[in-house]
Amino acid sequence: MTRPNIPFIDLATQQKRIRDKVDAAVTKVLNHGQYILGPEVTQLEKEMAAFSGVKHAIACSNGTDALTLCLMAKNVGPGDVVVCPSFTFASTAEVVAQLGATPFFVDIDEDSYNLDPAKLKAALSEAKTAGKKVVGVISVDLFGQPADYDAIEPIVRDAGVWLLCDAAQGYGGVYKGRNVGTIGDFTTTSFFPAKPLGCYGDGGAIYTDDDATADLLRSLLFHGKGSDRYDNVRIGMNGRLDTIQAAILIEKLAIFPEEIVSRNAVAERYHNGLSNIVKTPRIAEGSTSVWAQYVVRAPGKDRQAILNHLTAAGVPTAVYYPKPLHQQTAYKNFPQASAGLPVSEAVAQDVFALPMHPYLDEETQRYIIEQVIEAVRAA
Ligand SMILES: *Cc1c(COP(=O)(O)O)cnc(C)c1O
Repeated sequence: MTRPNIPFIDLATQQKRIRDKVDAAVTKVLNHGQYILGPEVTQLEKEMAAFSGVKHAIACSNGTDALTLCLMAKNVGPGDVVVCPSFTFASTAEVVAQLGATPFFVDIDEDSYNLDPAKLKAALSEAKTAGKKVVGVISVDLFGQPADYDAIEPIVRDAGVWLLCDAAQGYGGVYKGRNVGTIGDFTTTSFFPAKPLGCYGDGGAIYTDDDATADLLRSLLFHGKGSDRYDNVRIGMNGRLDTIQAAILIEKLAIFPEEIVSRNAVAERYHNGLSNIVKTPRIAEGSTSVWAQYVVRAPGKDRQAILNHLTAAGVPTAVYYPKPLHQQTAYKNFPQASAGLPVSEAVAQDVFALPMHPYLDEETQRYIIEQVIEAVRAA
């Protein structure tokens, strides 16, 4: 067999499917010319709010700014401590440090890769005893699976702090009957092209049920505007979503529910083909993942040998994440729970991600599964 050309994420097939609609939608924006906060932005916000069953969806510039805007809405600044996981994309902690506050790293649960509620609880009480001014918790729905909110919410509530859900990878998921977007004080997402719901550039959104918070966020993302556009009432930022990206996202959102079903079918096929050779992901009972990544582990095996074998067989892979934040140069001096982060450190050594997108056909997937089995056996 010739070496197949398998994409890690296939955005081209999706584009082919909706290209006519996207062309028409972009042309419409070019014709009306409202490139900033045009009607498509409002339409997208309404459709996202309806899709998630949340009162307000606020489109913004990207997933990182979405997090920053939430922290700004909570007046986070120097002296404040925000608890977050370390096994995540840099933005989760970057936004905290960017505002002069301190990220405080807590370990994850080995099965879900999300914040470990027991460790979160211990860290919050430890921080309190140490006199740290913890103001909030950022949880992450890593790889598309919602964190364990039934356990996390009461812990956060008892600590008297806010909960921000970073659903850059988890938007579209469901946690025990509750849509991602409706959980916590607010939820953010990213429309970076490779995310489960992506645009053709940068984009993001914030979801909240609170009217006053929504107003505040809309002001913050527009330079702190007041009701009079030229009397800015607070320090904000330029955090708007382009109208063209909103127009594209309207077409992508229309097929997103179907794509989530397809992603779950792909995940199920991987699980059936691979669960006795690698550690496949486990999704909590009653929850739905949107499978931003399909991440497996082969503990005790030589990961690099597995990846080399797969590369040679034409199967693309990626490692999310080879180094947790608390071990990275820019973040290693920030505080961490005194119990350390052994799970984050261990999984970083043996995780790897397989091709995952809604258009992965069964024959190609069979080939990928065969190659993974061979690669792991040989490693
Ligand atoms: C992608 C991502 C972000 C940042 O989103 P951008 O739109 O790229 O700024 C934040 N958090 C997590 C967990 C992510 O995966």
